[in-house]
Amino acid sequence: MNQPGTIGIIGGGQLGRMLTQAATSLGFQVVVVDPNENCAAAQVGAKQIVGGWDDQAALHELSQIADYITVETEHIDSLTLDEIVASGTPVNPAPQTIRLIQDKLIQKQALKAAGLPVADFVEVNDETSARQALKTFGGKMLLKTRTGGYDGRGNALIASPDDITSALKNFDGHPLYAEQFVVFTKELAVMVACSDDGATASYPVTETIHERSICIQTMTPAALDPSVAEQAERTALAVANFLDGAGVFGIELFLAQDNQIIINEIAPRVHNSGHYTIEACRVSQFEQHIRAIAGLPLGVTDMVVPAACMVNILGERDGPTQITGLDAALQHPNVSVHLYGKSPTKIDRKMGHLTATGSTAEQAHERALLARKSLSV
Ligand code: AMP
Repeated sequence: MNQPGTIGIIGGGQLGRMLTQAATSLGFQVVVVDPNENCAAAQVGAKQIVGGWDDQAALHELSQIADYITVETEHIDSLTLDEIVASGTPVNPAPQTIRLIQDKLIQKQALKAAGLPVADFVEVNDETSARQALKTFGGKMLLKTRTGGYDGRGNALIASPDDITSALKNFDGHPLYAEQFVVFTKELAVMVACSDDGATASYPVTETIHERSICIQTMTPAALDPSVAEQAERTALAVANFLDGAGVFGIELFLAQDNQIIINEIAPRVHNSGHYTIEACRVSQFEQHIRAIAGLPLGVTDMVVPAACMVNILGERDGPTQITGLDAALQHPNVSVHLYGKSPTKIDRKMGHLTATGSTAEQAHERALLARKSLSV
């Protein structure tokens, strides 16, 4: 190649920002489509087309400029992506993969049909079918919106018929499905990169810790029996091999009773549970994704430190962004802080993250929590 070319990213939030940083390091130009002027990715050098993720004109404009198109979200009109592919600009992962993943019911049906392990689920159309599902699932289940959910939004834990009535009111006409409640001992995630020529590379298994259905922390490597870690990695690779298109995929898993690995869901993109790779792995998930979609060789995914703990920096109030304590947070040389340049701050909005590395999991964890405590956003 003469020049690495231009990467087009649909979405310019924190994932688009970190993809931009990795792409520009490799010499690519980056253009993003995002509705918020001066979005997080634009602040680090991406050109921006201001437009919504489903703005057909903006997406077609992007396809005129970009040599390679990718996404930071699955909530995109996949038919427009089909048109872009037909016009000759490659889109990765493939639009059919994005389509399959954006409807959680179709995602689960496809995984089950492929013989991959998922919790039992059933389509729900009304109160009667929801009540029937609750009986089938032994009195505890989740009602989930099929499309548009993220960070637990669109999920309701159901433990009684009354919960069904209020959830149906809240979800107000959205297509739904019900999923058996999984009693898990840990939540895990594996990032897997796939290239066009069929090569795959998986990152170490990470443990994800959630509060209020939001990932707040990851620990890598996850403290697991080696055979369980191997099974998690094998399952994640099987999922990635089943999907079309190049790029990094985030495979979220439950470690259930009897060390059973169950797939929770797939992100067809870089993912919060892979942020630790920036400091802890030879090639980060962001660089790996850029390599994969641009047809470059995949990099090594090994960790370069014994342990890493990532903690999300979530907004603690509503209002203009005001960050204090950065100096204190950075006092430890093994802590790296990533702030996303977002304003305003909102309760639980993802404003940044930090990663601490250490020679043991405990050390990394302690450093990360100390640094997080000194920051206020
Ligand atoms: P989701 O956005 O669907 O991945 O759900 C967010 C979080 O809700 C997960 O990380 C789990 O902590 C919890 N969750 C989702 N589905 C289930 C399930 N079937 N059983 C138990 N917990 C679940």
